[in-house]
Amino acid sequence: MDSKTPSSLPSVDFIREIVTTDVQQGRNEGKVITRFPPEPNGYLHIGHAKAICIDFGIAAEFAGRCHLRMDDTNPEKEEMEYIKSIQDDIHWLGYDWGTHFYNASDYFEQLYEWAVALIKAGKAFVCDLTADQITQYRGTLTAPGKDSPFRNRSVQENLDLFDRMRKGEFPDGIRTLRAKIDMSLPNINMRDPVMYRIVHATHPHTGDKWCVYPTYDWAHGQSDWIEGITHSLCTLEFEIHRPLYDWYIDTLIAIGCRPAGISYRPRQNEFARLNLTYTLTSKRKLAQLVKEKHVNGWDDPRMSTLRAFRRRGYTPEAIRNFVKEVGVTKFESVIDFGRLENALREDLNKRAPRRMAVLRPIKVIIDNYPEGQTEELDAVNNPEDPSAGVRKVPFSRVLYIEQDDFMENPPPKYFRLSPGIEVRLRYAYFVKCASVDKDAAGKVVAVHCTYDPATRGGDAPDKRKVKATIHWVSAQHAHPAEVRLYDRLFNTSNPGDVPEGKTFLDNLNPKSLEVIPSAQLEPSLKAANADERFQFERLGYFVCDTVESTPGNPVFNRSVTLKDTWVKEQKKA
Ligand code: ATP
Ligand code: MG
Repeated sequence: MDSKTPSSLPSVDFIREIVTTDVQQGRNEGKVITRFPPEPNGYLHIGHAKAICIDFGIAAEFAGRCHLRMDDTNPEKEEMEYIKSIQDDIHWLGYDWGTHFYNASDYFEQLYEWAVALIKAGKAFVCDLTADQITQYRGTLTAPGKDSPFRNRSVQENLDLFDRMRKGEFPDGIRTLRAKIDMSLPNINMRDPVMYRIVHATHPHTGDKWCVYPTYDWAHGQSDWIEGITHSLCTLEFEIHRPLYDWYIDTLIAIGCRPAGISYRPRQNEFARLNLTYTLTSKRKLAQLVKEKHVNGWDDPRMSTLRAFRRRGYTPEAIRNFVKEVGVTKFESVIDFGRLENALREDLNKRAPRRMAVLRPIKVIIDNYPEGQTEELDAVNNPEDPSAGVRKVPFSRVLYIEQDDFMENPPPKYFRLSPGIEVRLRYAYFVKCASVDKDAAGKVVAVHCTYDPATRGGDAPDKRKVKATIHWVSAQHAHPAEVRLYDRLFNTSNPGDVPEGKTFLDNLNPKSLEVIPSAQLEPSLKAANADERFQFERLGYFVCDTVESTPGNPVFNRSVTLKDTWVKEQKKA
């Protein structure tokens, strides 16, 4: 690209601009080191995907690196299961931290030492107020806070108490270590924030070594600093915490504390969270959905976890493209879920092989087709990708088509199969409806047709047209399988927004899952592998379920519906 014409450069977001400037000016020894810092208290969700793409993406673009760090400062809520799943989901998305996997708990000893140094410098104190009292003393957005009565303890007493806190002499919750800043500052986060609390709990990494745990705010900025992070990228809710993170580092530097071998300090930049319509991205609420069994686990394809999207058939490419398209701004907005679905369609359209499957079958009998005869017809695997080739699909006298594709008494403009009307069977023949069989209740149970042998492959030599093309499977060859169709999990676009007396659970969509126990599939689908994706013609994109499929018995999940491109085709015809 011509460097003299900046207008020809792709537009970059404000974070990439900042990083570019820093690199050009040689800040941070010219390095770009970012990190993704999840708290291992749940599975990653689609919102995290945005942060991951930004953190890992920017590091890669600037030939830097991105660390994965578990912000494991809450032993009661954190589990090994979550740590493993977070690692797995990031790899699935296509990113890797190499050897740079860390835990905030790796730094507990260093953080403790620095806390002691702050006490010695008169910058931290042990406080005996209860959690409720601390809240009362904190003041409000409009009123200043009040000093804790324990604020002026001597350094000696503070050191002694903090040491005994660490040794486990006190029960949970009766004392904290707090930074001594200023209770009258407008930013509430700066009003003598808690640095340590007593928690007698087993930690997934440090076991029972500690019974005082640093707060997230005390651990986070210092962890970044210790790791040599240059750009701490996070969501906007942390903007108001930035002055505190800066205060900790400024104060530590002022009293001569620095991490070994680090000449620079992290700089935090905040971007807007990803919010999606019809979707919740709060781990607490997602955990509640799982615990109370409103869904079948964290990987239920209706959930907003990466696990769930993956099981639903989403590709990492589609999610990455979606995040890229949403962009990085400071502007809070809610993105239409349809944009994520479109990103998936776009990706799968290029690479998912086409197959035929009938979800709600009705029998079609071709009266003039020889009984016992079978033939193999050529079907195109992917019109978007000629290299995908063709496959053989068996055709015989008795077929299944969708119940929807036949009407005995059609309204005007219904162009599919009905008495006297001719349609095309995809890749096969023109057929014309002659009569129907009904059961005792008068319900149509089979449709009789005649076919025109001259239209083999789907085109008439006399150029006569039909107004519809429908899909089908040969009844004797079809493979029956369970297929699951999903709708939105919530029936309001902002499910977290609830009136008094209601909860987000009241917004659950009772029709979010439809199980079709016995769809009829084209025989080749019997051999589908778990996680293999297909387009079922006219029905959408489907994935072979990774959990409940067994060899020879695939179960399919619909990933996303299709915009019916055949409509256009038919208009052209
Ligand atoms: P939750 O509110 O669901 O508990 P969290 O922010 O507490 O999410 P963390 O594990 O602390 O979850 O998040 C790790 C990183 O992911 C943080 O840097 C956070 O800014 C980012 N993140 C979380 N949710 C979103 C979101 N919806 N959009 C973009 N980034 C997000
Ligand atoms: Mg968090």
